[in-house]
This record gives sequence, C-alpha cells and structure tokens, in this order.
Amino acid sequence: MTVPLILSTWSFGQRGNEAAWPGLARGGHSIDAVERVCQVLEADQEVDSVGFGGLPDSNGHVSLDGCIMLAPNRCGSVCNVRRFMHPVSIARQVMEQTHHVMLSGDGADAFAQAQGFMPADLLAADAQDAYHRWLKERGTVDQSRDKGYSAPRPIDRGASRGQPNDGARAGRLFFHPAPEPPPGRSRDDESKWKGHDTIGVLCIDAHGVLAGACSTSGMPFKLPGRVGDSPIIGHGLYVDPEHGAAVATGTGELIMGVCGSFLAVELMRAGQEPLEAARSVLQRIIDNYDVKPEHQVALIAMRPDGQFASAALRSGYKSSVRGNQRNEVVEPDAVMLR
Ligand code: ASP
Repeated sequence: MTVPLILSTWSFGQRGNEAAWPGLARGGHSIDAVERVCQVLEADQEVDSVGFGGLPDSNGHVSLDGCIMLAPNRCGSVCNVRRFMHPVSIARQVMEQTHHVMLSGDGADAFAQAQGFMPADLLAADAQDAYHRWLKERGTVDQSRDKGYSAPRPIDRGASRGQPNDGARAGRLFFHPAPEPPPGRSRDDESKWKGHDTIGVLCIDAHGVLAGACSTSGMPFKLPGRVGDSPIIGHGLYVDPEHGAAVATGTGELIMGVCGSFLAVELMRAGQEPLEAARSVLQRIIDNYDVKPEHQVALIAMRPDGQFASAALRSGYKSSVRGNQRNEVVEPDAVMLR
C-alpha cells in the first residue's frame, strides 16, 4: 500500500479527505491531516452529527466531543463542549499544551477560550427545527433515518408529556426497529444511519507516522451530559505507532463496553490483519449485547504499513479513502449481520 493515505468514516469523510490531501501529499504530517479532516466536517452545517449543525440533546443544547492521538503518551480529548465549533482542535491543544488527556464541559470551554478559540453558536436552524419536531412527536431516540425524516424519529414510550427533557425523565433512551425504507430508498443506503455519523479518521503520512482523530455531536437528543465512545481514548479512537490504529463509529454504548478501538489495535498487535481485528471487535459486541435492528457500529483499522480495512455490523456504512492512486468511497470489507 502506498503512503500517504487517509481513511475516514462515512462518505462525507471524502469532503474532509479532499481538504487534507494537498498538504499531506506535499509531505505534511498525519496529525495535521486528521485534524483538518475533522475541522472541515465540524464546520459543515449539512452534517447533522458533527460540529456546527449537530443535533442537540434532549434539552435542545448541542454538545460536542472529539479527540486526537499519535501514541499512548500523545493524545488529547474534550467532551461536552458547548461554545466552540472545533473539539478536535481543542483536543489537540489539550495534548500539546497541558499535561492532561481529557477536559470536559465548562472546563473544556474555558480552556478553549483561554487558548483563543472563537466562540460559536452551535445550534443550526435545521437542527433546531429537527429538535422541535422531535419534541412535538414526544419521543426518545431512534437512530435510523428511514421514512425520509431529516432527523431521527422520536417515539413515545410512556414518558410524561409536555417537557423538553422527558427522555431524561424516563431515565433511559429507547429504540425501536427501523421502519421500512420509503420507495426508491434501499436499506443499503447510508442515509438510514443518520445520527450515527461521527467523523473518524486515520492517516499515515509519508514519514510513516500514524495519527487518528474523531469528532461528533454524539447521539441525537441524548440525555444531557451523555458522552459516547468518540472522545474516549481506547473506545472511539486508539493509535499505537508500532502496531496500528482504529476508529469506531455508531452506537457508542455498544462500542464502550468492549473498548472497541483499543481492542482492535491490541488484536493487530497480536498478529491479526486489520480486517480480522475489526471483525473480531464486532463479534465481541454481538456476543455481549442484545443487538437491535437499529444499532449500527463500524470500525476502520490501519496498520503502520498502510494496510487497512473497514467492517460494520450492518449494511449502509461506507468509508472514504484518499491515497496517491485513489480517491473514493468504499463499501466495508465485511458486514456482520444481514
Ligand atoms: N459513536 C458516537 C457516539 O456514540 C456516535 C456515532 O458515531 O454515531 O456518540
């Protein structure tokens, strides 16, 4: 496999890859490339699961998570950022400017402000509309986007009516099976996983250095304060310079129970190929959870020699690849459940 190479989650990752590629192709560093990919999607209002335009929590507030990593002793993370658009860049500052790994909530916002980041209103008009539709339908969380909803369709499972945070009062998030897709839309369509669209990116540069990053607004209409796998080192992202790197996307609660990204890298350390490692992590999830039709998890994994793979629990996931000879959106190498 030729380097440099960028591998991102989902087809919209291609937009980020495009922006990061010129610098990387000129000999730039993988850490700059992964940050750039995330920044582009964080600023993209059309992506309703990352950065500005992300769907809010059950109180109508957007909160962002992100992390970045070069090695076990070179990583940074932020979660529950409420006033700044680029969690990945704040995470990089945590890595480079502090002796900590992770900052959360008000502390992360205060740190970003002190570092000179520009405050931003994160709630886009479309996301606000989606929130109001969700409130009106009185629901909790459905992470599919079949039926053409521009946002996950809420359902009511007996939570008391009339308040924005009924989902929180009900004490848990509920899911229901994804409905049949509308005519002309296939279940293989990536669009059915709206709300499951963390941007995660792995990159190996021309110097042979691996880096990874991810950024998300988390589960749509989540309980306020909920943090998923994405900003947690070893869950949403892990990088070992000698043995490989992995990023996860999808239902964070399933990924966190198996330390998904760390496990994938450990399996590569033990000799598994990237595809085998990604499949093994998904199998571990299948073995440990009551996986529902609306659950999706996907993993991308890359070795320091540039060999990479992706695998998903269900169809409808895609990865974006950018290298010297290629710039494409690809199907996963394995889909575990049909
Ligand atoms: N993994 C993210 C989370 O659980 C969301 C996603 O990738 O879909 O917050």
